[in-house]
Amino acid sequence: MDRLPSEPEPFRYDTEVEPGERRQIRCEIGESYLGDPVEIPITIINGKHPGKTVFFSAAIHGDELNGVKVVQEIADRYSPGEIHGTIVCLHVCNVPAYEAQQRYTPIYDQDMNRSFPGRARSNTTERMANQIYRRFVAPCDLGVDFHTSTRNRTTIYHARADLTNPAVERLARAFATNVVLYGEGDEGSLRSVATADGTTTVTIEMGRAHRFQPVLIEKALEGVESVLAEYELLPGEPVHWPGWYKTTAADSTKRWLRADIGGLVEMEWGPYPLVHEGEAICTISDHFKTEEHTVTAPFDGLIVGSLENPVAAPGHPLCHLVRLDEGTLAEIEQEIAAGDFDGYRAHGDAWVDD
Ligand SMILES: [Zn+2]
Repeated sequence: MDRLPSEPEPFRYDTEVEPGERRQIRCEIGESYLGDPVEIPITIINGKHPGKTVFFSAAIHGDELNGVKVVQEIADRYSPGEIHGTIVCLHVCNVPAYEAQQRYTPIYDQDMNRSFPGRARSNTTERMANQIYRRFVAPCDLGVDFHTSTRNRTTIYHARADLTNPAVERLARAFATNVVLYGEGDEGSLRSVATADGTTTVTIEMGRAHRFQPVLIEKALEGVESVLAEYELLPGEPVHWPGWYKTTAADSTKRWLRADIGGLVEMEWGPYPLVHEGEAICTISDHFKTEEHTVTAPFDGLIVGSLENPVAAPGHPLCHLVRLDEGTLAEIEQEIAAGDFDGYRAHGDAWVDD
């Protein structure tokens, strides 16, 4: 949506945040069993200068914490004096899930990221989603929603975006992840609903639940700065370029390699998230160690997601593999040789950990 004002304007929700003002609020979006207000922390930085309005949101899934740290840093880092436009920081969207440190809203296990735009007269999660969406997302021109993998798995740092939409592609490019998985997104997800309504939105997936992973958080903050530069909220700052860039369809279920037998899983890939056709990805053994089954790479690929819980039953996802063309493969191999992947290796957990 292109609606660049020539004069700075107040950000309006129930009240107004004036240009040049940073406001930290707790906004009521529901009530607990005790009848107490459920309030989400929000920071609004309305720049002195006119420009676009962009939201950054975290913890729509309550145990996904990397984004919470990213949003805290964004809210602290930028001042109204330097910003051209408005930044809306939704620090923790699903408060009941966050308090329980679990993915879904504890009440009926509802998924807030399938509940947008929500409705005022629907279930608990849709009501909360509706409050957030109507008051803070819909007024924005663009947005970035931070997620991590679900527990017991991890994911490579990547964006999810509908690259058939040029406005979304621009945003995904500006965030400058190496990998973008494309697709419209699931029904009711913040990214798909907001984008369809004209608030161009991408999702950033980063690492694991229940952790702060400083390397990923730092990369995401660079991505944020790059987005602010691209859309001239921070005019004069450079837009980043990720180096190599790989896009692939987010039709992820088919690309998860799954276990065919039950047993103990030991990952063999690493330390880099790159496997060549025929290389071992993991072994699955029975408890007597009489049988060992090796799972090999069906093609040259990048491991973008991997099982962390080391036991599997038939059908369990083991790893999410993205096929690489020769050019991208060569670029990644060059970066590995140059040591560019080495920062990810510290805790023996290739690529994703700090
Ligand atoms: Zn999530």
